[in-house]
Order: sequence, then C-alpha cells, then structure tokens
Amino acid sequence: MVRKALEDSAFLTVGEGESMLECFYPDVYLDSAYEIDYEDLYEKGYRGIIFDVDNTLVPHGAPADGRSIALFERLRKIGYRSMLLSNNKEPRVKTFHEQVKSPYIFKANKPFPASYCRAMEQMETTPDNTIFVGDQLFTDVWGAKRAGIKTYLVKPIHPKEEIQIVLKRVLERIVLHFYLKKERH
Ligand SMILES: [Mg+2]
Repeated sequence: MVRKALEDSAFLTVGEGESMLECFYPDVYLDSAYEIDYEDLYEKGYRGIIFDVDNTLVPHGAPADGRSIALFERLRKIGYRSMLLSNNKEPRVKTFHEQVKSPYIFKANKPFPASYCRAMEQMETTPDNTIFVGDQLFTDVWGAKRAGIKTYLVKPIHPKEEIQIVLKRVLERIVLHFYLKKERH
C-alpha cells in the first residue's frame, strides 16, 4: 500500500534538487476555496474555473452544503463558467453536480492534463483565462500546471483522510516547505 501511494503520488525525484519540485508549486496557496476573490479575478479577465470536489469544496464524499451551493450561484451571477474535475467515480461527482448545477468530469485521471483541456473546451475558455482550484499537489496542482492553468492550492477541508492520502500529505509537506521558503525570499 505504501508503494502504491508513492507511485500514485508520482513523486520520485526528491533527490534531484529543489528545481525539480517547482512543477508542484501552486501559483497561489490559500486556506480555502471560499476566500478567493472571484469578482476581482473576473475583472482581471478570468472566465472559467475548474474545481476539484473532495476536500476542496466539501469534506471527502460529503454532499454539497449551503456555502458550496451559494458559491456556484455567485460564480454564475458574476458570469463565470465552471467545471467539476474529480478523479472520483461518477455517482459521487454527479450527485454533487446536481446540487451545485455545474458540469462535471469524473474519473478525470489527474494529474494527466487531458481532462483539464476537455474542461476548458466545454467552458470555451483557454489556459490564459482559466483558474484551477484544488487541495492536492500531486494530482490537482501538477495536472493544472501541465495544462498551463493558473493554480490555486487550498488546504484540505477535512483532516481525516485515507491512508494513501495521508502518505501523500507527508510528501506534500516536504514540497510545501520548499515552496514557502522560496515565496519568502
Ligand atoms: Mg481533493
């Protein structure tokens, strides 16, 4: 299981220096998807937002709550198009989609960039005017950066996670250590 988690994380290059870690660095690191200034980003020209679901918008596997439903209403009002991009299975993502009324891609195979590109096609946006918001470095952030999208990393909502994810979090902390060190200089 440990080996699988490491393979899943695609994080095999620690010894090759800090520059190797930069493909995992988000453009912005915040506490929550709910504190992003979406109005300001719209004014700056952004038009599409791709969201991870589990632990980004709600705890893992949880249904949409009042604030997530309100967030998507607010985004529509501003004028955004949005997509849910999840590696989870269809029933989970579809249920969430029905609540927040945003289109979705399930089993997205992050960190491979293909589904990010498909999401932009559906929103009719480009990497220049799209934002990605997610909670995991080795799937969400890495994939979004490979697709050329501005990336917001947020802290996971729920601290209790499956063992594979817990192991990835340990590796994430190492990368975040170097990222935050670089940000301070
Ligand atoms: Mg997630």
